[in-house]
Amino acid sequence: MATKKKTKKSKLQLVKGMKDILPDEQKYWDLIRDKVDNFAHNYGFSRIDTPIVESTNLFKRSVGEDTDIVSKEMFSFETPGKDKVSLRPEGTAGVVRSYIEHGMLNMPQPVKLFYMGPNFRYDKPQAGRYRQFWQFGFESIGDDDPVIDAQLIIISYQILRELGLDIEIQINSIGDAECRPQYIKAIKQYYQTNKNDLCSECSKRLLKNPLRLLDCKVKGCNELAESAPQMVDYLDDDCKNHFMSVLEYLDELDVKYNLNHRIVRGLDYYSKTAWEIIETDESGKLHALGGGGRYDELVHTLGGRPTPAVGFAIGIERVIIKMQEKKVEVSKRKGYDIFIAQLGIEARKKALKLFEDLRGAGFNVVESMSKKGLKDQLDIANKKGTLFTLILGQKEIADETILLRDMDSGVQEVVNFNKIASELVKRLKKIEEKNLKAGK
Ligand code: AMP
Repeated sequence: MATKKKTKKSKLQLVKGMKDILPDEQKYWDLIRDKVDNFAHNYGFSRIDTPIVESTNLFKRSVGEDTDIVSKEMFSFETPGKDKVSLRPEGTAGVVRSYIEHGMLNMPQPVKLFYMGPNFRYDKPQAGRYRQFWQFGFESIGDDDPVIDAQLIIISYQILRELGLDIEIQINSIGDAECRPQYIKAIKQYYQTNKNDLCSECSKRLLKNPLRLLDCKVKGCNELAESAPQMVDYLDDDCKNHFMSVLEYLDELDVKYNLNHRIVRGLDYYSKTAWEIIETDESGKLHALGGGGRYDELVHTLGGRPTPAVGFAIGIERVIIKMQEKKVEVSKRKGYDIFIAQLGIEARKKALKLFEDLRGAGFNVVESMSKKGLKDQLDIANKKGTLFTLILGQKEIADETILLRDMDSGVQEVVNFNKIASELVKRLKKIEEKNLKAGK
C-alpha cells in the first residue's frame, strides 16, 4: 500500500532586514506624516514621488561607485528586458533625475521638493538598521545662497524637536571640487603614515574613498580620526565664506549645533555644508537620525546644466524608536464621531444602509456589524473614542426612530430616523464650538 508522503511546509517569515509596520505603530507614522506635511506647506515645498526602481547607473553616477552603498549594499537586478536596475538606496538621486528630466530647470528657482518613501540597502541588520527603511527628505534645487542651507538645517532640526526629540546638529564643510583635492591629499598622507593602525575596511577605503576614514568608529581608526587634518583648514575663500554665513544664520536662530570635522556624509555628491542630526542616549551613545548637505555638482553630473542644491533626509524608523524610548506622547489619530450599533437581523440591514449613507454624507462613522450584543458594541464605541452611538433595535425599526446616545454623559434620546443626519450635524457643531472656545 502506498504511504502518503508528508511534506513539511517551511514557515513563512519576514525576509531578513524587513519590518512590518503594525497597527499599534501607525499613530507615530501618522504624526510624522502630518508634521512633515505641515513644515512642507509652511516653507513652500511641494511633494514629489519618484519610483523605487531606478537605473543602476543613476546611483553609480550620483552616490558614487566606490561608496559602500553602491559597491556593496544595493538591491540590483536585471529586468526581463535586460535593463540593469536597482531599488533606490536613497532619495536625492531620483529627485534630481526627475528635476532634470521634467525640465524643472526652467521653473522659477529654487525648486523646493519633499518626499517620503522606502529605501533599500543590503546592510547588516541590527537594532534600528533595516534593509528596507523609510526616509522623508527635503531638497531645494537652484540656489547657492547659504541662507537656504540654514533654512534646511532649521527644518530638519525643528521637525525632530516638534516630534519630542532632544537633538543637536553636527556640522562641517567638506569644501568643493576646487579645494577638496588638497585636503584629500593631506588626509591620504596622514593615514598612509599611520597605515598599520587602520582596520581592514579602512585600509581599502584609503585608496578609494579616503574621506570615509573620518567616519569609522573602530577604536584605532576612531583615535586616528580625532587628530587627522581638518577640512576647515583647507577651505578656499568661497567655501569658507559660505560656511561662516551658514553658521551666522544658525547663530541667529535657536539651533543647537556643534562643529564636527568628522562629518563627511560619505556620498560622492556632497560639497560645502554637511550636517547630521544626532541624538545622544542616556549612556552617552550617539545616534544619527538623519543628515544632509549641499550638492552643487549633482545636477550637472547627471546631465543638467550646473545648478546648486541642498537637501537632507531623515530615517523614520529611527525617529520612531527614539520617540518610543523617550515615551513621547502620541495621541491616536482623531477619534471617530459616530458608532452605529444594531440589535437583530432587520436592524443590521437598516444599520448597514445607514452606515453607508452617513459615511457618504461625510460623517466620521464606524461600526462593528459582526457583534450582536449591545454591551460588546458599546465597548467598541468607547474604545474608538466615539462621541455618539446610534442604536437600532426591533422597537426603533417599528417606530421609525433611532436611539442617540451621548457617549460622554450616557444619556440616550429617541430621534426620528429621518432626522438623524441633521440632528448629528447640530450636535457635532455644538461640540466643535465648545472645543474652539476651550482652545482645544
Ligand atoms: P544617510 O543618508 O545614510 O546618512 O541616512 C540618513 C538617515 O537614514 C540615517 O541617519 C538613518 O536615520 C536612516 N537610515 C540610513 N540607513 C538606514 C538603515 N539601514 N535602516 C534604518 N534607517 C536607516
